[in-house]
Amino acid sequence: MPIPEEVINEIKYRNDIETTISSYVSLKRRGKTLVGLCPFHGEKTPSFTVYPENGSFYCFGCGVGGDVFTFTKLIENLDYIEAVKLLADRSGITIPENGYDDSMSKLKNNIYEINRETAKFFHDYLMSPDGKWALDYLTQRGLSVKTIKHFGLGAAPDSWTALLDHLKSKGYSISDMLAANVIGKSQRGTYYDRFRKRVMFPVINVRGKVIAFSGRAMPGDDKAGAKYVNTADTPVYKKSENLFGMNFAKSFCDEQIILVEGNMDVISLHQAGFRNTVAALGTSFTNEQANLISRYTKEIILMLDADAAGQKAVKRASEILKNTGLEVRVVVVPEGKDPDEYIKKNGKERFEALLSGAVSEIEYKLLTAVKDIDTNSDDGKVQYLSRAAEIIAENGDIITRDLYIGRISEKYGISRTAFSAKVDEIRKKNYRASRKKEISNIIHPKLSGKELNPEKRKYPTAAIAEETVISVLLLHPDFFDSVYEKLKPEDMITAFNSRIYSIVCEPLSEGKTPDISYFGERLSTEEFSFLTSLYNSEKGRKNSLTVLNDSIKVILDEKIRIKMLDAENLSDDNWAECMQNLIENKKKGKV
Ligand SMILES: [Zn+2]
Repeated sequence: MPIPEEVINEIKYRNDIETTISSYVSLKRRGKTLVGLCPFHGEKTPSFTVYPENGSFYCFGCGVGGDVFTFTKLIENLDYIEAVKLLADRSGITIPENGYDDSMSKLKNNIYEINRETAKFFHDYLMSPDGKWALDYLTQRGLSVKTIKHFGLGAAPDSWTALLDHLKSKGYSISDMLAANVIGKSQRGTYYDRFRKRVMFPVINVRGKVIAFSGRAMPGDDKAGAKYVNTADTPVYKKSENLFGMNFAKSFCDEQIILVEGNMDVISLHQAGFRNTVAALGTSFTNEQANLISRYTKEIILMLDADAAGQKAVKRASEILKNTGLEVRVVVVPEGKDPDEYIKKNGKERFEALLSGAVSEIEYKLLTAVKDIDTNSDDGKVQYLSRAAEIIAENGDIITRDLYIGRISEKYGISRTAFSAKVDEIRKKNYRASRKKEISNIIHPKLSGKELNPEKRKYPTAAIAEETVISVLLLHPDFFDSVYEKLKPEDMITAFNSRIYSIVCEPLSEGKTPDISYFGERLSTEEFSFLTSLYNSEKGRKNSLTVLNDSIKVILDEKIRIKMLDAENLSDDNWAECMQNLIENKKKGKV
């Protein structure tokens, strides 16, 4: 049951999009629109556009778009209903009871409660005499009881049903426990605790809610299986969007944040006073994690293992961080140790020195690039210089580039002019490649790495005409009757546009003229983003009726063309039937 339209409209009216978005993104006026740096993808030139006129936004960089509800949903990491509720609360509007389907937010609430209860259960067990084995392990690793309590660490008993029984006694349902991923179901249909005989690290989000767990097996426990057992993605948790320790680090990272590899590194650095430390949750660093960090700090220090895997991780992370506007520096921990070991052995001051010796990303890359090259030979020198030119060319700042062009050309005794020309050449090539990619992204919008309308590559002419029809119809709902007479959803060639078209037609066929928010609840974020881009498209603004009729003709002609192509592969009988259909359609004036 959707929330009544009048309520949605009232909430939207009281939370105008300009004010709402301005509290998260700094916007500059550009004609009728406002632009700013997109909070959903990293960028240095603004492509995030707000249209106060019609209450929508769209980012030409990453293709995300929608209305004030979509924005709130994405920026606050909520579902649609939660976003509507939040905006309703902010403006003092009460949503009528039973006026909407809130089963998802109820489930999420239950999962949060189960997670909190589970964390408490593990922590109490750790602190009880039965949990001494785990407490001994943590204190042997140098953690104080104060730190253990601060992070809410715990231990899972060596039992198949201890947690299950406990949660049952608190009245939680099996289905909610399964949804929280704290229990599993065996092939025989019995339920069991997912975490057994492990030290437990709760993962807490920036709002202070327990969202997941990471369980570490005891060293030497051969029967334990995997070293770490982690919560899978649940309705309240996506590991690619969260960072371990961010709930604490967010208050201490105005200047910089330290990214390390393991949970234990975070905890022991935190204990030593480096409270601005976080770790990716057993994943390689993601765009979402980079965006989360860039909301809180100016600089990120990558402190990853010195081995080959660590180097690869630095490369990947710096690639992702490139467009976030964050300063990136890299620390290599000596002797191949992890930060936890290093600080225990060498103390806080030495660690501090290590941090202050963090090199810029470009320096780090230049240093590691030289590693396996013999720069005493001419061949080696040429090889290194072209690698170095690639690395310098990646840097967006002309002063930085100039500095390193000078240093490297001097160090290797080559002409500065020649080396500088090489760097420029690479930059031009890179620029062309990135422009090409950008344009392709606008023509074939991709969200979450998936192309929205894959058939557009096969039928570009038809797909563009289809988009135009939908776009004009959104702007001029009064054309609906004449359009629908000529073009039914099934006449559209690409399945994606056909579906969007049928959803747009639905309220129009009932004589309604909904605004864009009507569709927010009925489409996925990706589909709604796409619809918003059509809504704000320039296509249908001039000579709408002509443009519309031309586009319909293009679609129907394409349809015949495709049928003819298919017909060439048909048997004679089928071919005759197909032609007959076409002739009849022509007579009816459909084609
Ligand atoms: Zn964007």
